[in-house]
Amino acid sequence: MFAAFSAFLIILLALLWLCQTVFLNSFYKAVKVSETKSAVKTVSANLENEKLEYIVADLSNEKDISITVLDSENNVLCSAKGKNNRSMFDSIPEGALSEFYSKAKSNGGEYSEYASGKLFSDMKATDKNDDSQKPDELNGESDKEKNKPNSFLICKIVYTQNSNYTIIANASIMPVDSVVSTLRVILIAVTILTVSGAFAAAILMSASLTKPIKNISEKAEELAKGDYEVEFSGSNIKEIDELSSSLNHTKTELGKIDSLQKELIANISHDLRTPLTLIGGYAEVMRDIPGEVTDENLQVIIDETKRLNSLVTDVLDISKFNSGAQQMNFEKVDLVECVKSVIPRYNKLVESENYKIEFSSNAQHAFVNADSTRILQVIYNLVNNAVSYTGEDKTVKIEMTAANGTVVTHIIDSGEGIPEDKLPYIWDRYYKVDKNHRRAQLGSGLGLSIVKEILLAHDAAFGVSSTLGKGSDFWFEMKTV
Ligand code: ADP
Repeated sequence: MFAAFSAFLIILLALLWLCQTVFLNSFYKAVKVSETKSAVKTVSANLENEKLEYIVADLSNEKDISITVLDSENNVLCSAKGKNNRSMFDSIPEGALSEFYSKAKSNGGEYSEYASGKLFSDMKATDKNDDSQKPDELNGESDKEKNKPNSFLICKIVYTQNSNYTIIANASIMPVDSVVSTLRVILIAVTILTVSGAFAAAILMSASLTKPIKNISEKAEELAKGDYEVEFSGSNIKEIDELSSSLNHTKTELGKIDSLQKELIANISHDLRTPLTLIGGYAEVMRDIPGEVTDENLQVIIDETKRLNSLVTDVLDISKFNSGAQQMNFEKVDLVECVKSVIPRYNKLVESENYKIEFSSNAQHAFVNADSTRILQVIYNLVNNAVSYTGEDKTVKIEMTAANGTVVTHIIDSGEGIPEDKLPYIWDRYYKVDKNHRRAQLGSGLGLSIVKEILLAHDAAFGVSSTLGKGSDFWFEMKTV
């Protein structure tokens, strides 16, 4: 930052130095020449104006240029010597004037040149013109001439309908050397002041801008190493403050994901180990003791394999929802048909263990916009839980009510119910109300969290009401189309 600041300052100061000292002389000369030329132009446009004398006097005074207008007989029509009366026009010898005139004539009516005071005095002394002295050499570059005021002279012959006129204008160009040396002193002071000012500003800016950024990047490094306790502190600069708070938010989210991941690994490894131990144990017993190869033991292995399978499917589903990789394919689905298609899955249970699954609906059809596979999974998971936890009567009721553009589906069991203080947690991953419950030991604890994710993706309302000893009522509500 300091380097950029210094570079900018150096360029700025260099430009100032160049303009104020090196080019000042040239600028000044160029301005004077242009002013003189424009004055001559104005006079030539007003030659036959009866107020010519006033125009010439005004121009001469305003621009400090001496102007003389001669008629065709070389008589002075009007003349003005400028504000400071400093013109060297008077010192131009006769011979020089007639030479300027003839040069103007041969040059298409206009001739101009820089001349030094020395030249004019030389001319006066010798009363002759030296052609070898070219304008460039007379620019006052030699030491002697440097201190003498330079002069710009222009001679213009103007032809009108009736006559012809000669306009001679002369502007003094004062040497700016003394001004330049004064400016140099001022510039040295300005340079010292600005450089120390820039230094102070750079230190201040670094304290208010660079330091907090450095601080943030150091903390970000710590965060990258897995320290989720770091605290990004703000500063009095709004943008840095915003950056700090968004990094704090990122840190919190990353921390959550990290602990979730750890929890997930712990749960999965625990849940996988149980069926694997069972499968391994039963298989070993059956290998070592021939009499143990029974249908029941084989069924344990089959059940545990199924359990493993459903656990892995659940874990995959939930991780798809978490990563956002789960795409929904919305289509028009008949919810009544969905429920009806789930019931036959429990036929075996109904027949062998006398379970009752009762379905009632106030409508023949209830069309909703949904991903049919996922909605089937919701119904299946809820019915599965209800079957698992229902009471002695082994009854599960599915009640559907379609009204006012919505359809509400209730899955009701007659089981033990869920304590009210546990109700908010049952939708969390791996949450089990009673870990010792037979069904809970079999379940993954992911079923309801998958239901929650799917229903949220469908913008559906859902909930549960439960009475201890009486049973639970899980419901979800969707808009009909
Ligand atoms: P699990 O696979 O263990 O059933 P869920 O996410 O489906 O996991 O359910 C979470 C917990 O909520 C269960 O362990 C259980 O304690 C409780 N639960 C879910 N459904 C019912 C129900 N119908 N009756 C009583 N408790 C239930």
